[in-house]
Amino acid sequence: MEASPETKIDKSALPDGRGHFGQFGGVYVPETLVTALEHLGEQYETAKRDPDFQAELAFYLKEFAGRPTGLYYAERLSEELGGAKIYFKREDLLHTGAHKINNAIGQALLAKRMGKRRIIAETGAGQHGVATACACARLGLQCVVYMGAVDMERQKLNVFRMRLCGAEVRGVESGQKTLKDAVNEAMRDWVTNVRDTHYILGSALGSHPYPMMVRDFHKIIGEETRQQIMEKEGRLPDELVACVGGGSNAIGLFYEFLEDEAVRMVGVEAGGYGIKQGQHAARFEGGRLGVLQGSKTYILQDADGQIELTHSVSAGLDYAAIGPEHAYYRDQGRIEFSYATDEEVMKAFQLLCRTEGIVPALESSHALAYVMKRAPQMSPDQILVMNLSGRGDKDVSQVAKLLGEDV
Ligand SMILES: *Cc1c(COP(=O)(O)O)cnc(C)c1O
Repeated sequence: MEASPETKIDKSALPDGRGHFGQFGGVYVPETLVTALEHLGEQYETAKRDPDFQAELAFYLKEFAGRPTGLYYAERLSEELGGAKIYFKREDLLHTGAHKINNAIGQALLAKRMGKRRIIAETGAGQHGVATACACARLGLQCVVYMGAVDMERQKLNVFRMRLCGAEVRGVESGQKTLKDAVNEAMRDWVTNVRDTHYILGSALGSHPYPMMVRDFHKIIGEETRQQIMEKEGRLPDELVACVGGGSNAIGLFYEFLEDEAVRMVGVEAGGYGIKQGQHAARFEGGRLGVLQGSKTYILQDADGQIELTHSVSAGLDYAAIGPEHAYYRDQGRIEFSYATDEEVMKAFQLLCRTEGIVPALESSHALAYVMKRAPQMSPDQILVMNLSGRGDKDVSQVAKLLGEDV
């Protein structure tokens, strides 16, 4: 694959009017939802141009979520790795512990504006559910979160957090009882209750306008980063790195820099136990073009089109499909992709705790595992910015177990 784009990127042209990023994205849903998605798209376009909506969003991002987040020079880690100067965009310091609150607040405000008082959401690890439950509590909206029964058992603490904030958590007993099944159930609910209900989708996935809308609510990450790196270094970074589940924190950081050809961008997927069928969630390592839950993109599927099982140490990265915008920019050679295995992730997690006193989310530790390999290949006058998408408080008991500690 070409490392540099062959054609100049014009990001303003994407997606097109029907939600396509090249051959990716689009709207692949039952008839009943097509109208709802079109209506949502129209309402979103109007809101986006309304200064009152933007002012309200800015208010909540600042006062409730804690923006702007810092751009932090990781001096000890940079010295330890001996190469590029490493900066972290500190999304881990946001309310509820990760970038997800940017999108949850944005969509909850949009729902309120549309006169929809009932919110539904899906969640896997529970982080998007918690962010949505908190945003709904603050805005006085009713909140129902669908979660696979297996995930509910694994993430009991997050289930309790959502309930504390007034959300109803509905266990999903179909399929593998995980995220994909929770999405199906949320879509079924939306079809039935679309008149008074908004579906807050949690990543840059699904049918148009979701990938675009979720991206827009997160692009503040890159906008702040540009301003902060100019203040601190007087120039743009050489490389940006982010972990990629559905792709929302990554596109949030990358979007602002897509047209800056000198800035390299790398997304890091979950390599799990290694790249063997059913053992990982790296869609660009063996994934094929297909349609899953409303969007055409790269998907881990077998020869019959059955969705493959996925595995990652990190529950936030194990979805079988990747956001369509990432698929497009990857084919264009604009965004490159790598992956990190569970083992590399555990090392990265511990290294950051030890060198910087920062406990990262296991998702973010995927990006860090790549940085550990990449930074030493770069020179001390080069700058690498990594999105520290979330904090690891939620992961410490799992890490303890994996390290054989009893806590
Ligand atoms: C959910 C989550 C991710 C993965 O989701 P994206 O949409 O790919 O960003 C990454 N990091 C953290 C901390 C998360 O909670």
